[in-house]
Amino acid sequence: MQMDSFDKLYVDQRRDMYNAEKQITKALPKMVKAASNRELKSALEEHLEVTKRQVEKLEEIFRGLGRPATGKTCKGMAGVLEEGQEVLEEDFEPDVLDAGIIAAAQKVEHYEIASYGTLRTFAETKGDTKSARILQEILEEEKDADRRLSELAESSINMEAESSTDEESEEWAEEESDGRSSRTTGKQTGARPRASDSSSRRKEGDGPWL
Ligand code: FE
Ligand code: ZN
Ligand code: FE
Repeated sequence: MQMDSFDKLYVDQRRDMYNAEKQITKALPKMVKAASNRELKSALEEHLEVTKRQVEKLEEIFRGLGRPATGKTCKGMAGVLEEGQEVLEEDFEPDVLDAGIIAAAQKVEHYEIASYGTLRTFAETKGDTKSARILQEILEEEKDADRRLSELAESSINMEAESSTDEESEEWAEEESDGRSSRTTGKQTGARPRASDSSSRRKEGDGPWL
């Protein structure tokens, strides 16, 4: 492999994520504002702070390599965030909107997880261990954010299931809380709207997700 063109690729991908993080710092406050669930709000607020520090961490990498920290428009992130914005503009009820916000935020996290995994490996390939360490740190932060969002999505469903009284719902609650469904990876079942949403026209006791 030609190292000078690989260098260019590595630099371009770094600049892409530097720009992506900056886009995220502008988008997250809108999600925070639109969210109703308190835990979701604080998870997003905390990730906003983490994201601001990630911008600084990337600047540290650029500095360490003697390069100016300049971004390069990340069209992928722009698209992901644009779709998230579309969700915010829908006239959804609060808990459905929360589920949509989680969906949007997890798409952001997954884009980042893919990107930082690549960037870390690039840094390792270059023997740039200092950058590789920082990039691994950021990767872990994105995974944590993703996990927390999965947990929020799944716990609200559990609560709803617990409050139902018919047998079917109890089975469901057991199934959801036995650990098999609390995933430790980026896999998730998605943020399903709750059984009480009028969009699904279910009454209490109707049982969840059939
Ligand atoms: Fe990030
Ligand atoms: Zn991109
Ligand atoms: Fe993130």
